[in-house]
Amino acid sequence: MTAISPATIRAQFPGVGDWHYLDSAATAQKPQAVIDAVARGYGETYATVHRGVYDRSAAMTRAYEAARERVAAFIGGQPNEIVFTRGATEAINLVAATWGREHIGKGDAIIVSRLDHHSNIVPWQMLAGEVGAEIRVASITDEGRVDLDSVRDLIDDRVKLVALPQVSNVTGAVLDARAVADMAHDVGAKLLLDACQAAPRLPIDVAALGCDFYAISGHKMYGPTGIGALWARADILDAMPPYQGGGSMIDRVSFEEGTTFAPAPTRFEAGTPHIVGAVGLHAACDWIDGIGRDAIHAHEAELVAATREGLAKHNDVTIYGPADSAGIVSFNVRDIHAHDVATILDDAGVAVRAGHHCCQPLMDHWGVPATVRASFAAHSDMADVEALLEGLNKVKRIFG
Ligand code: PMP
Repeated sequence: MTAISPATIRAQFPGVGDWHYLDSAATAQKPQAVIDAVARGYGETYATVHRGVYDRSAAMTRAYEAARERVAAFIGGQPNEIVFTRGATEAINLVAATWGREHIGKGDAIIVSRLDHHSNIVPWQMLAGEVGAEIRVASITDEGRVDLDSVRDLIDDRVKLVALPQVSNVTGAVLDARAVADMAHDVGAKLLLDACQAAPRLPIDVAALGCDFYAISGHKMYGPTGIGALWARADILDAMPPYQGGGSMIDRVSFEEGTTFAPAPTRFEAGTPHIVGAVGLHAACDWIDGIGRDAIHAHEAELVAATREGLAKHNDVTIYGPADSAGIVSFNVRDIHAHDVATILDDAGVAVRAGHHCCQPLMDHWGVPATVRASFAAHSDMADVEALLEGLNKVKRIFG
């Protein structure tokens, strides 16, 4: 593993410059390679996919399908197991609306955790409300991890799905997915992993993780917004009913004979897809693997350690999350509102996220309205950490 050279990497991000951008968990800045791929996609190579007989369209179709192959390789799956979506939110909603409606019924149960993102709570609440299923909520440890003992206590043969984040977007805790997959499979349930925060920073092999569904988001992994992907095991995806109806997802449409649908994954991609988004996501996968996910993870771990060490010198700072967090540090300073902290940090050129991070049940659990969250990327460096810690001193000077 070659160590990261942040200066070289930083120079590839026109959106970063000397800004201390510590909000990559909300959305990642884009490397020039991705920006160029998107510009080319909308420029000299642009055409629609799957329909045109002319060369340009055939080439664009190949590029779109090459992106599917690239995303599959990125997570260790097969191209026919990848459905392009608008993002992770749509990937999860797709599973709820198709597989969920077919396999989860009255009296069944779905396990989520108290630290899930709203995207991995609300679709399941909506489905449960519709079909009469029950949501069971796994608790979290004091360190801010999903409590596996709690999952074990909640799981029984009424559970049809366990839906958890592989990496928490607030605490950065990495899930022992294999252990949860084994628990789920023991009772005949499926495991869905929300991998928004894992994809940009961890090597991934869906087979080794043992999951059945895997949701990723392009804009969190240095790619474009409006594109993401659902991976589902081929046998599961093949058997799933369609999601949205429209063009492209059909085999044949007839008023007389009824409509038949295309095989997976095309069946799940109604309408003109986000063609250039997929092309940009391809470039993002290449870019990440050009740096190396082990290297990114190790680099972010150093920044997390330095941040935590600096924060721990303040006895009025509460840090949420474990020391081995993947790229994310959440904290609060006394009872100073996170928004005030973030506003003062912004004045110091440091961009952090303040709020509930779409994790209101987690904030309720901690009894706080919000936290400050610093999150790292491959281009982050020690100067970013120092600016954050210096900004914190300013916060404390202002608040006395
Ligand atoms: N899950 C997690 C853990 C996230 O961090 C996010 C993005 N904030 C989402 C889901 C939603 O992803 P998307 O923006 O791709 O819909």
